[in-house]
Amino acid sequence: MTERSLLMIPGPINFDPAVLRVLSTPTLSHMSPSFAEIFREVLSNLRKVTFTENAQPLVLAGSGTLAMETALTNLIERGDEALAVDNGHFGARSAEILRSYGVKVDELRYRWGTAARPEDIREKLEQKSYKLVTVTHVDTSTGCRNDVEAIGSVVRDFDALLVVDGVCATAAEPERIDEWGIDVLITASQKALGVPPGLAIVFFSEVALEAYRARRNPVESYFVSLDRWLPIMRSYEEERALYFATPPVNLILALRRSLELILGEGMENVFARHGVVAEAFRSAVKALGLKMVPERDEYAANTMTAVYYPGGVEDGEFRGGMAERGVTVAGGLGTLKGKIFRVGHMGSVNAHDILATIGAMEATLEELGHNVEVGRGLAQAQKILNRM
Ligand SMILES: *Cc1c(COP(=O)(O)O)cnc(C)c1O
Repeated sequence: MTERSLLMIPGPINFDPAVLRVLSTPTLSHMSPSFAEIFREVLSNLRKVTFTENAQPLVLAGSGTLAMETALTNLIERGDEALAVDNGHFGARSAEILRSYGVKVDELRYRWGTAARPEDIREKLEQKSYKLVTVTHVDTSTGCRNDVEAIGSVVRDFDALLVVDGVCATAAEPERIDEWGIDVLITASQKALGVPPGLAIVFFSEVALEAYRARRNPVESYFVSLDRWLPIMRSYEEERALYFATPPVNLILALRRSLELILGEGMENVFARHGVVAEAFRSAVKALGLKMVPERDEYAANTMTAVYYPGGVEDGEFRGGMAERGVTVAGGLGTLKGKIFRVGHMGSVNAHDILATIGAMEATLEELGHNVEVGRGLAQAQKILNRM
């Protein structure tokens, strides 16, 4: 079978060959000066991507969920109160993690397809004092984006930490840690950061680190405790290797390459490219008469799009038809399973990837007997992509 195919799911994504090649280079000793230098560069470039001077990034072996657990367990103690904004599968996961550590969680729930209203968060914070507020930047189950900047300006008026799950947003949607008052940013390698799965990344602001230091009880985890990892990260920042547990050396080398590509393009250019590609895709979806999960355009994320199947189109058949055409798209999560498909358009995504995806969608829908005017979505998308 041919290896030529496009992975257009909301992570892992279609990785740049320059990043993939790094994985097959000889593995360095994690204690060597050359690796220490690379790790220092990675930590410093992670700060540039997220616009922070002082937040401390941690890079651990693990998936995005481990990054969530790392962020939360280091800050909360049994009996603490937390507010979890839940407008999708991953918002609910934050609440689950908190509860599993004995935290009392109030959920601020929204219908899937909508975004959180900052004024509701203000109201909650006025009623009760919370240790922290969790919010998902882009919820991968719906393709809806929450306005983290506006939420940050609300939370900063209260004595609560703002914890943002940026797994499906970091390095594609602007995330300005310092300016927006983000206390903890959670992310992972396999989405817009453009590195195969396996790196859990968390940024702790100085305020968050103070909260960690002020704990009354020890962190209820051995592996993800900041007690273990802060000295390691601080040491690598000074280009001195220090051991607690073996870092995933080749993934970190690959992250160095990917960050180099991202920063080489320039953050504002990266954000603009995601904006144009996403708009082109949405305009094609509309031109084909399909409905998207975000109820309003302003809720729609630039990293991925979730689309309802039109009547008569079955999930397995559609995704099978797409795969035969060399394009892999994702199905729905939770209650939307079988009802929607999801397309990731982040990281190194370009105009041609999205046109190929739209072309495959048109052909597959036609084959499955859905009434589409083949070429209509492509024509709409081209108009927008020509702005790039
Ligand atoms: C993908 C994702 C996660 C989970 O990441 P895993 O690597 O699958 O553990 C968490 N939150 C968001 C917003 C995601 O998109």
